[in-house]
Amino acid sequence: MDENYLDELNEQQRAAVEYCDGPQLVIAGAGSGKTRVLTYKIVHLLRLGYEPWRILALTFTNKAAKEMRERVEQLVGGAVASKLWMGTFHSIFARILRANAELIGFKSNFTIYDSSDSLSLIKMILADMGLDKLAFLSGPRKGQKKYKPSAILSAISSAKNALISPEEYVRSKDLLEIDARDNRPELYAVYRAYRDRCVVAGAMDFDDLLYYTNVLLRDNPDVLRHYREFFSYVLVDEYQDTNFAQHVIVTQLTRESGRLCVVGDDAQSIYSFRGANIRNILDLRKTYSALSIFKLERNYRSTRNIINAAGSLIDKNSEQIPKTVYSENETGALIEVVKCYSDFEEAYQVASRLSQLKMTSGDSADEFAILYRTNAQSRVLEEALRKRNVPYRIYGGLSFYQRKEVKDAIAYFRLALNPDDDEALRRVINFPARGIGETTLAKLTRAAIDGNVSLWTVIQEPDRYPAGLNAGTLRKLDRFAGLITEFVQADRKGADALELATRIIERTEMLKMYLHDSTPENLSKQENLQELISGVKGFVETRVEEGSDSMSLADFMAEVSLATDQDSDSGDASEERVTLMTVHAAKGLEFNNVFVVGVEEELFPSAMAQDSPAQIEEERRLMYVAMTRAKKFCMLTYAGSRFRNGQTVCCRPSRFLRDIDQRYLRLATNDNLGDDAPKVRPTVNYTASMAGSARSLNSLRKVQPSSGAPQSFRRPGQMQPSAGKPASDVRYALHSVSEVAEG
Ligand code: ATP
Ligand code: MG
Repeated sequence: MDENYLDELNEQQRAAVEYCDGPQLVIAGAGSGKTRVLTYKIVHLLRLGYEPWRILALTFTNKAAKEMRERVEQLVGGAVASKLWMGTFHSIFARILRANAELIGFKSNFTIYDSSDSLSLIKMILADMGLDKLAFLSGPRKGQKKYKPSAILSAISSAKNALISPEEYVRSKDLLEIDARDNRPELYAVYRAYRDRCVVAGAMDFDDLLYYTNVLLRDNPDVLRHYREFFSYVLVDEYQDTNFAQHVIVTQLTRESGRLCVVGDDAQSIYSFRGANIRNILDLRKTYSALSIFKLERNYRSTRNIINAAGSLIDKNSEQIPKTVYSENETGALIEVVKCYSDFEEAYQVASRLSQLKMTSGDSADEFAILYRTNAQSRVLEEALRKRNVPYRIYGGLSFYQRKEVKDAIAYFRLALNPDDDEALRRVINFPARGIGETTLAKLTRAAIDGNVSLWTVIQEPDRYPAGLNAGTLRKLDRFAGLITEFVQADRKGADALELATRIIERTEMLKMYLHDSTPENLSKQENLQELISGVKGFVETRVEEGSDSMSLADFMAEVSLATDQDSDSGDASEERVTLMTVHAAKGLEFNNVFVVGVEEELFPSAMAQDSPAQIEEERRLMYVAMTRAKKFCMLTYAGSRFRNGQTVCCRPSRFLRDIDQRYLRLATNDNLGDDAPKVRPTVNYTASMAGSARSLNSLRKVQPSSGAPQSFRRPGQMQPSAGKPASDVRYALHSVSEVAEG
């Protein structure tokens, strides 16, 4: 262990690290070393003799967890670091739930539904209840659906994050009144049906991981006592973004012992739409009377200009905890603000300034980030970077695991582990085609809902749950069931992930199906399936190297099913690339050079925030997060027009540009544009190009060739989607425009 770790901290940080006498809150601005304090505190606890497997450290993103783990590894070595309970809330809670699933009516092999599974289930339920067609007939929402699936899902999510069960929901007059006012009085029933179908399918969605952990600890005093004693110290990063469910779990675990250290910054609270509540930080004092509050005041990350500019922006928010921030860094360059004609020109400007800066600064591509408010903005940026041969990596958007062929294979993996998984079954019951059509599926679904059992049970026990199917169809279902049973048994007999995954791909003839014709799309599908298999292989090999025997398909899936949209990146981790991500995903990260694009009204701040002062403040905090990611250079751009939702709209510069003290800004002009700069958007036939674009985009989107790192060492999160056949720029432009249109 590196004995001098305390020397790498300033006095305030050191005091925070050394304090282990009770509950502790570190509240400080961006870049002041909060995450560093957490990391070093873990090292310090180890130094004091705390056992690594009894230290629990919670982060929000997989990337943050990974970075923290790497830093701790450097300080104490990999052997010790690997024993820590360190990860995202969701991954840690999934682990606790798997160990105790039976106590709350689940099996330990429960499936984790991703957002598209959840949405598909909601749609099925709405259709079943006859609510899917109800729409507003007049008024401002004329023609809009009363039960919009995504809105229903987020209402259910909010209920869960507030720990409200369907039974409590229906008893709450307030909630029922709100729903009646919003013209969706049956929401409680949809929530209940959704919960019931998830239970029958042995599945939890992301919110359930928090919700059921609470249920587990609430209803099982022995389990609660066990974890209270087991975790000898709990540390949480980014506490300002915890929601009620997370807050309750953390306090349940540590209220008695008081061995808790949380760090956060109220000015960076950006997840209220997901139920995060800044009150959680403020209320800590009520929960822990002995709470000690530490402040960190020196910013180590950014130049003074960046700190001052971001500070002058966040000052415009009325609600915040006052903080002192100072820096001994250089003054640095002014923040560049660039006005562009269109989003196309904006992308061109960013790519061009970025390339230029890369040459003059000597910074590697890793030190550049382009941040945007919404994922849809990435298309034009990608195109501009491609033209300049700038390698990039996208977080969010269409990740490897969201590709159709990969999802199909994963659905079979899921069924092998849990055949009750309705959404997986629905996905592949007729894939590859085996003559089981929509009508059959509808009949099976009806019988499953009526019997309150899974689709699999209906297929297994046709006499008990008659679905009114003819003998021919029953035979087809039998063959399908035979295939799944074969996989289930192979898993039970102890097949490792690679054996089972290979068998599934072979026996379902999935790969073979794509071998029939060699269109670029099919080729890329084959490559992606092969990449999936090499990912599984790499996973098993790594486990062997580590001397671990957890190498079943379930172990592989435990890693894969928690790769969230935001976290999963599109490129090989070993190669230097420019990062493209939403501001939300950039939380906690830092780069020498940051470009924030689309700084326009109705985009940043979002159109949805316009009517609510509280939401405008949240958007302002988001802008503050964006700017404070930059160490040396920060550029803000806005366009006069932008292609959004199928049309070109005029845009106005964001109010946030006016909020920033002008002393720290430099308004760049368009004069540095070269001759090849697109001043006018190319004319394209949007409607024509929209047809089929979603499919071909799959193969076009990932554009950088793989670095050629040995595949066997790739972990699941690092899988590389196939690039497919590189498209010509023209085709790419058409597709990216149509994709924006769709978004
Ligand atoms: P954010 O609010 O954005 O999450 P943070 O408060 O967690 O920021 P860190 O990411 O921990 O800040 O630190 C910001 C940067 O400053 C990091 O590069 C970190 O290594 C560096 N840093 C922090 N403290 C020190 C120190 N005492 N000496 C040298 N570098 C430091
Ligand atoms: Mg941090």
